[in-house]
Amino acid sequence: MLNAIKSFYEILKGMGITARQILRGSQTYQYPETKRPVRQRFKGRHELRRYDNGLEKCIGCALCAAACPADAIFVEASENTDEKRFSPGERYASTYEINMLRCIFCGYCEDACPTEAIVLGDNYEMSFTDRSQSIYTREKLLVPVPPGGNPTPQQVEPGMFDRSIPMMENPD
Ligand code: SF4
Ligand code: SF4
Repeated sequence: MLNAIKSFYEILKGMGITARQILRGSQTYQYPETKRPVRQRFKGRHELRRYDNGLEKCIGCALCAAACPADAIFVEASENTDEKRFSPGERYASTYEINMLRCIFCGYCEDACPTEAIVLGDNYEMSFTDRSQSIYTREKLLVPVPPGGNPTPQQVEPGMFDRSIPMMENPD
């Protein structure tokens, strides 16, 4: 008899949970039509940021590559000139690659970057059918030129940029 009461109680408990879930409504996002908003500190696909004038923030210092515990980043730097300027610094990243199959999305690269050029953004839609597609190149990672800015390379006035590392005002 005691067992029957216990079983009946468990059934009622289960039905209660089911009823509660029905009243809460659907918790399923109909992806990809509806995308679940990401949290403020979400670490998704990387972006290489630009300044408002369109110049690239990356100065090719490779500190991000040095900080990466997964050895996922490869950077090759080249010199800027006033005729062909990519960044406000002395150098820019002529090659910048992230192997997304290696990346563990720790964010150390973002922490190490002195110019806040590499940022882990909100995008989590990454899928590959081939290993070579997992290499995200500079062209793929660079954000679009902001309105009012110019694409890189830019031609600038001689002597306009004379610092090896751009001046940073109150970095966040
Ligand atoms: S998020 Fe971490 S693992 Fe991925 S590239 Fe940056 S430092 Fe490397
Ligand atoms: S992303 Fe930042 S740390 Fe990496 S090479 Fe560019 S400037 Fe240096």
